[in-house]
Amino acid sequence: MRAVSSILVSKSYSIRTYGCQMNEHDSERIAGLLEADGMRRADDESVADVIVLNTCCIRENADNKLYGALGNLKALKAENPDLQIVVGGCLAQKDRDTIRERASHVDVVFGTHNVHRAVELLDHAAEHGPIVEILEEAVRDDNEAFPSALPTRREVDYAAWVTIQIGCDNKCAFCIVPSVRGVEMSRPFGELVAEVERLAADGVSEITLLGQNVNSYGRDLALARRGDVVNDDLGNDAWWCGDNWTDDRRARPLFGDLLRVVGEIEGIHRVRYTSPHPKDMRTETFAAMAETKAVCEHLHFPLQSGSDRILSAMHRGYTAERYLEKLTEARAAIPNLAVTTDIIVGFPGETEDDFERTLEVAAAARFDAAFTFVFSPRPGTEAADMEADFVPHDVAVERYERLRRVVERSSRLANEQRIGLVEEVTVEGPSKKDPAVLTGRTRWNTLVHFASDAPIRPGSYVTVEITHASVNHMLGELREITVPARHRTRIPVASG
Ligand code: SF4
Repeated sequence: MRAVSSILVSKSYSIRTYGCQMNEHDSERIAGLLEADGMRRADDESVADVIVLNTCCIRENADNKLYGALGNLKALKAENPDLQIVVGGCLAQKDRDTIRERASHVDVVFGTHNVHRAVELLDHAAEHGPIVEILEEAVRDDNEAFPSALPTRREVDYAAWVTIQIGCDNKCAFCIVPSVRGVEMSRPFGELVAEVERLAADGVSEITLLGQNVNSYGRDLALARRGDVVNDDLGNDAWWCGDNWTDDRRARPLFGDLLRVVGEIEGIHRVRYTSPHPKDMRTETFAAMAETKAVCEHLHFPLQSGSDRILSAMHRGYTAERYLEKLTEARAAIPNLAVTTDIIVGFPGETEDDFERTLEVAAAARFDAAFTFVFSPRPGTEAADMEADFVPHDVAVERYERLRRVVERSSRLANEQRIGLVEEVTVEGPSKKDPAVLTGRTRWNTLVHFASDAPIRPGSYVTVEITHASVNHMLGELREITVPARHRTRIPVASG
């Protein structure tokens, strides 16, 4: 890392994050880069020297929200001309120069492939004026392309996200990710293991492996090992692909290999991952989940639709029958598995008959929870151009309600079946509604509230007997603290 910038010492920053976990993780890395450069987090955005808007174009009305926010920041910039306004993330990658055309008070625009350049771009803008820098794609042998390879300022001390792969090779008709995040690139195996070892040494006990198509991790590394894609300059095999496979010319490493290795690292108590693609889900992954104690019994398995006709229009690469077969295989391999999903209602061309197939599959799948969305077109996607087939909004909303009722039934039932069981829970902290009550999560990722006579540090593992269950949470009684939190408590340091 270069020397601390003289321009930014003792300045303060504020970051607004829009969108998914991937973006939240990018924001942690931007914060880490700025702090490594001598900045501190502002107590309030209105007094910050640098305001970063880390954007997302997946959510509805993302453009309106960004330009609305930029409009509001104009007054702040007029009061304080030294304020630097930065726009990064997916929407910046997509809109590029348009952002400064519509909001000329923006100082820096960067995309999804050059997060690591945040500080250099701020310095450049301070010296030479506004700058837009968008890279078309990540550079394969540039380690800094992976957000986890950068310094970080984690939001939670005991849990961390680890980006294992960036980009996506699929072409789901509703999704903007492939055009803003580029092709899939897996982070070298040895480097990931080293990162998780460092996190564990720092007191982190729960990690979530992140990727747009997380379970296809390693596909590109295996190709690279066969010499089809890259040359010998990439370093030794063990670092690139893991030492277990240096003599193995089969397609390795697999995602399951990674789960097994990081799950065995001392101090790592829980491993989660998101988001996998059903078409790429392999028997080896289920086996690794079943045989690695730290990997939570929770599978997020995006269905999107139960109609084969709609799945085909979405380019999802599986049928409803194949999806249910894989789910059956997963449940047979992993006892007590919780399954959650994503479903889009009202995709262009969806008929009542298509939607009833979705209801049937949802009922058969017995989901523990589902993120259900009414379709809304995202500019730049194939589905946005299917205007002639758009489902009327009131029809989609009525279907959404019917689906919600089906999913709620299975969620409630799954939670009620836990009553009387003693669950392991990670303590997150006091409940938002009642500070006398603690909140935590089971290995299934279900929220549990319970009372405790004495304070318990967030990040501790406790056992709780479940006494009550509803659709979205459970109540319980504390039994014992099984693993106290190990991380150091962060002490704020005043700079200046
Ligand atoms: S697999 Fe996921 S990230 Fe990739 S195109 Fe489909 S929905 Fe988007």
